[in-house]
Amino acid sequence: MIENHLPTAELQRLDAAHHMHPFTHGDALAEKGARIITKADGVFLTDSEGNEILDAMAGLWCVNIGYGRKELAEAAYRQMLQLPYYNTFFQTSHVPAIELAARIAELAPGDLNHVFFAGSGSEANDTNLRMVRQYWAMMGQPDRQVVISRWNGYHGSSVGSGSLGGMKFMHEQGGMPIPGIEHIDQPDWWSEGGDMTPEAFGIARARALEERILEIGADRVAAFIAEPVQGAGGVIVPPETYWPEIKRILAKYDILFVADEVICGFGRTGNWFGSQTYDLVPDIMTIAKGLSSGYAPIGASVVSDKVAGVIGKGEFAHGYTYSGHPVAAAVALENLRILDEEGIVERAGSVTAPYLGAKWNSLTDHPLVGEARICGLMGSIALTPDKARRAPFAADKGTVGLICRERCFANNLVMRHVGDRMIISPPLTISEAEIDLLIERARLSLDEALDIVNRDGLMEAA
Ligand SMILES: *Cc1c(COP(=O)(O)O)cnc(C)c1O
Repeated sequence: MIENHLPTAELQRLDAAHHMHPFTHGDALAEKGARIITKADGVFLTDSEGNEILDAMAGLWCVNIGYGRKELAEAAYRQMLQLPYYNTFFQTSHVPAIELAARIAELAPGDLNHVFFAGSGSEANDTNLRMVRQYWAMMGQPDRQVVISRWNGYHGSSVGSGSLGGMKFMHEQGGMPIPGIEHIDQPDWWSEGGDMTPEAFGIARARALEERILEIGADRVAAFIAEPVQGAGGVIVPPETYWPEIKRILAKYDILFVADEVICGFGRTGNWFGSQTYDLVPDIMTIAKGLSSGYAPIGASVVSDKVAGVIGKGEFAHGYTYSGHPVAAAVALENLRILDEEGIVERAGSVTAPYLGAKWNSLTDHPLVGEARICGLMGSIALTPDKARRAPFAADKGTVGLICRERCFANNLVMRHVGDRMIISPPLTISEAEIDLLIERARLSLDEALDIVNRDGLMEAA
């Protein structure tokens, strides 16, 4: 079972001694020992003990194409032999960056025809923060510097992108948010909608944008950034009234719109981009994750004719050593070819999403599950001790979610928790039989979690 690596306990010891993990309590992990993933194929991971785990998160929302596609490995190999690295600074370019930029422009909606490459989603959003401010400076409106975003939105973990994000627990560490970024409330009806209907709540939360613009002064607002569907915040699918009202407000005050498509892009919502699912017209789209299906690190800002036309009139003093990295670009191109030619995005929207959606929504008959929400192949369920009141648990937020996640892990299912919401985002290539297995393992895990919750007296509402 152990193939060509040290025994698990030894790997765990070395990991604890030398490897600092992202978003992890280091000492707690060291005590427990990390689960070590050794290989993967399709939608299944294999760990160092030989367990086969259904990855209902597609890694970190990124392995849209599924694991084990040799074509992507071969594209990387060929490109490394041909030209492993060259930069795109100083008036040079190379074939993979050119072809990928052109292909992204073809796929992107509207006049999003220009691509500024980055190494990740965080980097791309840092680019966006500077680009929207520089746009207005070059337009002769240098006071337009404020960017509005949303509490519980996620835009990355660098200082700029983490400030754009609305994760308060992140802001508490390391001096975020930086000045010039303001947050408004999110359209999470289940948790924050009170007595309102979802429709009325969607309008109310969109109007919060207009109120904030007027407070700041429209002549000081550069842009609004948001995910079409919040991912890391817990797969918060907004009420249907939300986006049309946001669109109206952005147009009225001539505010740039940055759609953060890092998760929603490349088929996740059932179309190539979440902006198509919600009929949005971004000035800039942030992309990463599904762009390469996670096989190589790459992100980008996809920029409209309007914005690129202005930015191009001067030197934009910004860029990364690995902007448009040839190997990552070649891998992304091959990924896009397969997503398109094998009809993976098309099938995700027309076949897989309806099948998964019906099964997912059926989980609401479970005693622990309040609402189920799903958009394409990203879904969430809210755990609650009292469905009628949409009540949170009396226990600390996330206590029950963590219990449920641990049961999922024990049952060889990767399903994450965000507070007391359970979330999924499987590879787009997941089959109907694999969806059945996902739901079967999710139900089993929910049953086991319910037993523990009852045993420990946690079924108490706040
Ligand atoms: C993951 C994510 C990011 C950050 O991307 P990284 O590649 O981790 O830097 C930005 N925005 C959204 C919506 C994301 O989900």
